[in-house]
Amino acid sequence: MDILVVGGGIGGLTLALHLKASGLSCRIHVSEAVSEFKPLGVGINMLPHAMRELSQLGLATALRKVGVEPREFAYFTHHGQFILSEPCGLNAGYDWPHFSIHRGDLHKVLYDAFVERIGPSSLTFGERCIGFEQDGGSVSAQFVDGNGRSLPSRRADILIACDGIHSAVRKQLYPLEGEPVFHGINMWRGVTRAKPFLTGASITRIGGLFTTGKLLFYPIRNNIDGDGNQLINWVVEFFSDKYEPADWSRLGDVNEVLAHFESWRFDWFDPPTIMRNADFVLTYPMVDRDPIAQWTFDRVTLLGDAAHPMYPRGGNGGAQSILDAAALTRHLVKAASPLEALRAYEAERLAPTRAIVLQNRTAPPDLIIDTVEQRANKQKFDRLEDVISREELMAISQNYQQVAGWDRASLKAKTV
Ligand SMILES: Cc1cc2nc3c(=O)[nH]c(=O)nc-3n(C[C@H](O)[C@H](O)[C@H](O)COP(=O)(O)OP(=O)(O)OC[C@H]3O[C@@H](n4cnc5c(N)ncnc54)[C@H](O)[C@@H]3O)c2cc1C
Repeated sequence: MDILVVGGGIGGLTLALHLKASGLSCRIHVSEAVSEFKPLGVGINMLPHAMRELSQLGLATALRKVGVEPREFAYFTHHGQFILSEPCGLNAGYDWPHFSIHRGDLHKVLYDAFVERIGPSSLTFGERCIGFEQDGGSVSAQFVDGNGRSLPSRRADILIACDGIHSAVRKQLYPLEGEPVFHGINMWRGVTRAKPFLTGASITRIGGLFTTGKLLFYPIRNNIDGDGNQLINWVVEFFSDKYEPADWSRLGDVNEVLAHFESWRFDWFDPPTIMRNADFVLTYPMVDRDPIAQWTFDRVTLLGDAAHPMYPRGGNGGAQSILDAAALTRHLVKAASPLEALRAYEAERLAPTRAIVLQNRTAPPDLIIDTVEQRANKQKFDRLEDVISREELMAISQNYQQVAGWDRASLKAKTV
C-alpha cells in the first residue's frame, strides 16, 4: 500500500514513525511544504497521554535529554497568591513522563528518528500540496514548489492530510470554511534565559484570562549555559481586538501588553522582567475552527490541526495529533481495507477531539484561577478556603483532564 502523508509536522512525522513501527506492509512518503526544518516556535507540553504513544516509539530517552520534566502545575492569582499545586507526570503516579520542550527540539527528535528508521528519501521538502483528485482506485495529489511552480503529482492508495491549521486539503473539502475563527484573544510568546524559579520545574499559571489576563511560565531547557540558567517559555493571553492572520513564526512586541502586567511582581517571581528579557517574542491569535462532522472522504482523511485545530491550551494541540497518528495506524493494521480503516479512525477520534476544541474555548485548566478571581472580586484573600475548597479546585482540574483524555484512571485503563 502507498501512503501519502501531506505535512511533516508533529502529526505527520509521528504517523510515519507509527506506521513503520507497526510492521504494516506499506510505502510511506511525506510531502512537506517548507524547504528545510528550522527550530521554529517556542514551548510545547507533552503530557502522559502523548508520552504513552511516544514512549512506545522508543523516543522517551531522546526527549528527556532535550526537555524538562516538570514536577507540578502551580496556580496563582494575579496578586501572586497561591491557589493550587498539582503534581504532574511520573511525580503524579502516571506510568509515563511529562516533558515541557521546545517545539523545535521535539520536532528534531521526531525527524532524526524518521531519518534513521524510514530514511531521508521518504520525505520531500519544498513540496506544497495544492489539491487532490481521487477515483475508485487511487488518490493523486498536486504540488507546487516554493515559487509556486508546478511539480509532478504523487499517486497513492490513501492520503493523510497533516498539513496543519491552514490545511490545503481541508480547504478543498470545505471550500466555504474561510479563515480560522478569532474570538478576540491574542497571545504573546517568548523564551528568556533565567535562573530557575519555584521548584525549577513548575508549570506556572498566574491570573485568569477571563478576569485579569493570564500569564504562563515553564522551563523548556535546563542548564543552558553551565551557570544553572534555564530557558523559560512564557505566554501572555489577553483580550485585544487586533487581528493578524495566524502565523506561528510572526514576531511580536510584548510592550503592547506589558503595562497591564507591570504590577504583577511577587517575592517569589518577577514576570515583567522575564518578559522584558526575552530572546525574541512571537505573537499569535488564539484561533481554532468550528468542529466538522467528517474528516474521511473515501481515500483521504485529515489528522492533527488539519482535522481539529484547537486553542493551544492545556497541552493538547500537539498531543491530539500524536493520538490521532497512533489510532489511525492501529486501524490500518487491523481493518479489512484502507478505506474502512480511515472511516474507523474518524469514528474513534472525531468526538473526543471535538469535545476538547469546545472545552478549550470556555473551560481550559486556568478556569481554576478565573473561578477564584471572580469569587474574590479580584481582591487579595486572607484564607483560600474561604473562597473555594480544595475539592472544588480538584474537580475543575479533573474535569479538564477527563475531557482531554489524560486523567490517570482512564490512561491506566487504556488497553490500545
Ligand atoms: C512552524 C511552527 C511552529 C509552531 N510552534 C508552536 C509552538 O511554539 N507551540 C505550540 O504549542 N504549537 C506550535 N505549533 C503548532 C503545533 O505544532 C501544532 O498545533 C500541533 O503540533 C499539531 O501538529 P500538526 O502536525 O497537526 O500541525 P503542525 O505541527 O503545524 O504541522 C503542519 C506541517 O504541515 C506543513 N504544511 C502546511 N501546509 C502544507 C501543504 N499545503 N503541503 C505540504 N505541507 C504543508 C507545515 O509546514 C508543517 O510542517 C507550531 C507549528 C508550526 C508549523
